[in-house]
Amino acid sequence: MQWDEFSDWGAKISQWAADYHTNLRDRPVRAQSAPGEVAALIAPAPPEGPQDMGEIMEDFERVVMPGITHWQHPRFFAYFPANAAPPSMLAEMLVSTIAAQCMLWQTSPAATEMETVMLDWLRQAIGLPKHFSGVIQDSASSATLAAVLTMRERALNWEGNKSGLSGAARLRIYCSSEVHTSVDRAIWVAGIGQDNLVRIPISGGLRGLRPEVLRKSIIYDITMGYRPAGIIACTGGTGTGACDDIAEVVKIAKEFDLYTHIDAAWAGAAMICPEFRTLWAGAEGVDSIVFNPHKWLGAQFDCSAHFLADPLSLVKTLAIKPEYLKTHGHNGLINYSEWSVPLGRRFRALKLWFLLRSYGLEALRTRLRNHVAWAEELAEKLRGNGRFKIVTEPTLSLFTFRVVGIDDQAQIDFVNRVNDDGRMYITQTEVDGAIAIRFQIGQFDVTKADIDFAFNVMCEIAG
Ligand SMILES: *Cc1c(COP(=O)(O)O)cnc(C)c1O
Repeated sequence: MQWDEFSDWGAKISQWAADYHTNLRDRPVRAQSAPGEVAALIAPAPPEGPQDMGEIMEDFERVVMPGITHWQHPRFFAYFPANAAPPSMLAEMLVSTIAAQCMLWQTSPAATEMETVMLDWLRQAIGLPKHFSGVIQDSASSATLAAVLTMRERALNWEGNKSGLSGAARLRIYCSSEVHTSVDRAIWVAGIGQDNLVRIPISGGLRGLRPEVLRKSIIYDITMGYRPAGIIACTGGTGTGACDDIAEVVKIAKEFDLYTHIDAAWAGAAMICPEFRTLWAGAEGVDSIVFNPHKWLGAQFDCSAHFLADPLSLVKTLAIKPEYLKTHGHNGLINYSEWSVPLGRRFRALKLWFLLRSYGLEALRTRLRNHVAWAEELAEKLRGNGRFKIVTEPTLSLFTFRVVGIDDQAQIDFVNRVNDDGRMYITQTEVDGAIAIRFQIGQFDVTKADIDFAFNVMCEIAG
């Protein structure tokens, strides 16, 4: 392709993008295609010769678009959002154009330095103290893996990477029953083993782990010869938005010299509003925190902000070149590939710069506050309606409910009927052994009218 042709197509695709977003409400939210339908429309073998870009774009509309679930649809109430605010999309276009691989400071100084400053902007925005520094990971799962590896190495006096785990002390890591499955996988991949992930029962409206049980479990494990290594706490669990009492977790961690990590992948964005910070009171005392600006905040996927009280312990765990440690901080240069499991890295900080400058924090706060207020209103309306019952109260903009008088399978059938209808999209979870329907508000362009509309759709389909 010649560059003049590229610029024609670039302009057409930008126009397509604007039209797509403007008319999204006309499309069914969840893809309505059957398994295998898209694959059947794709040529089974690659072409030998060149094909025309016009034809490729026509096929994009014909083959791809019917099989897309529209995450940017304002009535996307499933999972958590994966917002892509327009300025962050523009930044991503520039990043794709430059296509730099930003593993070291010298492989693109602007990417590294922008990342350092943007993570400090985010740190200020969410109210963390100055001693935290940050790095962008490709996912919250990667950040949690990095934290678990750090817990492991720290507990093994930095010998695990070298000697392996056989013959090493048997480590223990603690969390609540509400943490994300990424924690289980981090434990598997780190070689610690599922049996050594101790799940502490929860209690209370926020469904947080019971601190006294945590302390007892640690003491018991020590007497049994295990070596406790760390605690993974959650602020805004995926199922119901569960929040652990971080201050209590930190107190216990200090008592037993354990490394602490908070998974706030979704709820961390809300901390740009000071009034929500009570949900993680005590966070300033932990070692590591992850939150995903690519969820609620509007930075296009992928962008996970990982904050560290002591980045050196992470670097000591993941740095490939031991000599790097000698120069770290010495000449003021950071090589962020030493802060993450993958070596290669994209220039992800640019979209934060575009996003935060283009909106300003106050406009972002207003969006999030609206979502929280609307979730509370909707929960009230469902409660008052008689056909629904609230299972877990809203944590920020997430709550769960059930249709009254029907069993678990019928709850799932209800969710499927809503999603087959296409006007909105919801998913289910399990709460205390029973199915509950999740509702979260967080899409960037959602309005109060969309929430009222969704209420009517659910009433209509509940019958
Ligand atoms: C979304 C989510 C994750 C996983 O995030 P990825 O960035 O997709 O790895 C982990 N924990 C919680 C609480 C989440 O909501």
